[in-house]
Order: sequence, then C-alpha cells, then structure tokens
Amino acid sequence: MSLNGTYDDDNIFAKILRGDMPCVKLYEDEHTLAFLDVFPQSKGHTLVIPKNVQARNLLDIDESALAPLMHTVQRLTRAVNTALMPDGIVVTQFNGAPAGQTVFHLHVHIIPRYEGETLGAHAGGGMADMDELNALAAKIKAAL
Ligand code: AMP
Repeated sequence: MSLNGTYDDDNIFAKILRGDMPCVKLYEDEHTLAFLDVFPQSKGHTLVIPKNVQARNLLDIDESALAPLMHTVQRLTRAVNTALMPDGIVVTQFNGAPAGQTVFHLHVHIIPRYEGETLGAHAGGGMADMDELNALAAKIKAAL
C-alpha cells in the first residue's frame, strides 16, 4: 500500500512546498527544492525533492522530472562536500514503508559521513538545534 498508493497532498514535504511549513532551505529552482533534514542522521544531512509532481516515490515520477532532480542531488552533494569536508557521502532514497520511507513525497537523502562518527537513527533521532542547522545551511549555500 505505501509503495503503490495515491499521493497525499497533506504530507510534510507537500506542506513545505506550499509554504505551509518552514524548512531550512539550501537551494531552489524551477524543478527542485533542497533543505536540511531536521532530524539529521549526521551533520549536514540534506534532502532534495521534486516540485510540481505528485510522486510518492521513484516509481511515480516521470523521467522528464527525474533528470532535474538528480542534477540538483549532484549539485548539493558537491556543495556538502566542499562546505563540510566529510570523509564519505551516502546518497539514498527509500520506496515504501517496509523499505524505510516515512514521508510519501519522493526525496533523496544526502548524508555526509565522518570517520569515527556513528550514523544517527533514520527518521528517529532528535530534532536538530535550529542555530546549528542555520549555520550549516550558510556554509552549504556558500559552496553552491
Ligand atoms: P524517509 O524516511 O526516507 O521518508 O525520510 C524522511 C526524512 O524527512 C527523514 O530523514 C526525517 O528526518 C525528515 N523529516 C521529517 N520531517 C521533516 C521536516 N519537517 N523538515 C525536514 N525534514 C523532515
């Protein structure tokens, strides 16, 4: 069901896209929005989402919207690398609740990894300090 359902306009990311909920924005263009995860698994955990689509997951999105999405993912991955100098970066995406998906608007995670630091829980950790998120956002935006 969560893999093959209908799109729910009330999901959190749809609310962010409508401006009904705030986000720590990193980048926006005609097709995509990138912002910081507020329950980050690591410092600089970034999310990239497509705009103007009703795609719950990778199965739903038209390929014409997929290319701009991945273009923004690469752009943000490079900016995170330059700004935060992690030791590795995980780029991942979940389809359906059993796969780990908790928000049903297609999104790609960019998760920096730092040697010796364990990864926080997926969608289950604590909320980040907003001052810290804003400081990280300033660094990443400067590297875009
Ligand atoms: P997934 O579990 O792959 O669907 O990922 C959803 C992600 O959204 C998780 O990493 C959550 O921490 C994150 N998240 C949930 N609510 C918000 C929010 N309001 N702003 C930013 N990130 C959020």
